[in-house]
Amino acid sequence: MSKSKASQCVITVEKYQGVNTPIFTSTANRYREYDDTVYPRYYNTLNQKAIGNKLAALEGGEFGMIFSSGMAAISTAIFSQVKSGDHIIISSEIYGGTHKLILSELEKFQISYDFVSGNDPDGFERLISENTKVIYTETPSNPLLTIVDLKALADIAKKHGVISIVDNTFASPINQNPILLGFDIVTHSGTKYLSGHSDLCFGAVITNNHLGKQIYECALNYGGSLNALDNYLIDRSIKTLAVRVERQNENASKLAELLHSSSQIKKVYYPGLTNHPGHEIAKKQMIGGFGGMLSFELNDNLDTEKFLDTLEMVIPAVSLGGVETIICQPSKTSHIKMPVADRLKMGITDNLLRLSVGIEDVNDIWKDLHRALEKL
Ligand SMILES: *Cc1c(COP(=O)(O)O)cnc(C)c1O
Repeated sequence: MSKSKASQCVITVEKYQGVNTPIFTSTANRYREYDDTVYPRYYNTLNQKAIGNKLAALEGGEFGMIFSSGMAAISTAIFSQVKSGDHIIISSEIYGGTHKLILSELEKFQISYDFVSGNDPDGFERLISENTKVIYTETPSNPLLTIVDLKALADIAKKHGVISIVDNTFASPINQNPILLGFDIVTHSGTKYLSGHSDLCFGAVITNNHLGKQIYECALNYGGSLNALDNYLIDRSIKTLAVRVERQNENASKLAELLHSSSQIKKVYYPGLTNHPGHEIAKKQMIGGFGGMLSFELNDNLDTEKFLDTLEMVIPAVSLGGVETIICQPSKTSHIKMPVADRLKMGITDNLLRLSVGIEDVNDIWKDLHRALEKL
């Protein structure tokens, strides 16, 4: 065989019957024999399609597609539904990056918006006007784990012919499936629970076929597609999503109870605790569990920095959803740009800490937290 034939030494997929989708890295693909041109930015490689289908199955949607980040998924989903002159209503308790997207991008396109405290569906309804096109929310929210009644909000959106979008990152599809409660579009920062190993950034949108087509057409133009190697890691991660999240639910529930009973802690925010204001709604809609995220506030006189310094196992780090337990101070990380008065009004004090609970032995996590509390 001549050297020039080396480029044709390709093993076709049909020949093997493996349980994994082969990593498909090709950006240049034959077109003459096929109806469909395969190209990564057309979101139609084997790996992209396999993961999109998996996520659609997990969320109970008809259509799923993946993006290079959570923000790529969120921005594409929103901009696929609005044009100049339209109006959007958004929960005020949302991820900082999404908040920034709304503040810095919508006005340029003459799209107006209103923020509403997310746990009041009637507050959304009161703001709906003729040009309202989208309602956008997030539950549980970051960092105070506020709960929004998804069914109530979806019903309001339907009644007024408005598209409903929810960021389901904190719950993960194992715990909560908003489409089954009537939501039109679900977004994820797959960087968190879906990938679960703190080693890659991706985003996802799950919806019905009709809206999926609109989002897809918009995505082609924005071009937030993801590479084949990361696709492979995602496919691998999703295989263990359910067992990871089940363990995280279990660990977080135990830790919430233990932290709640500590005299050095002023308040614990976890939807699984019966004293959480959203507990009853969470019980109805978080069918798999209350999630692996919780926040707690140290007593006023305690030194938060010293607490973080004393931890040996729990890692002070940003992001969330990985197999390792990490902790952060929202006032110094996710909410650092928010005016102090606004953040204090929300309840985000300097003594508030957010814990992303991992899959370690819960006794080890508690021992570390407990020891650091005792040292204060
Ligand atoms: C991290 C996060 C995002 C943004 O996702 P990226 O993957 O960082 O772009 C959006 N929503 C929530 C709730 C998040 O936690």
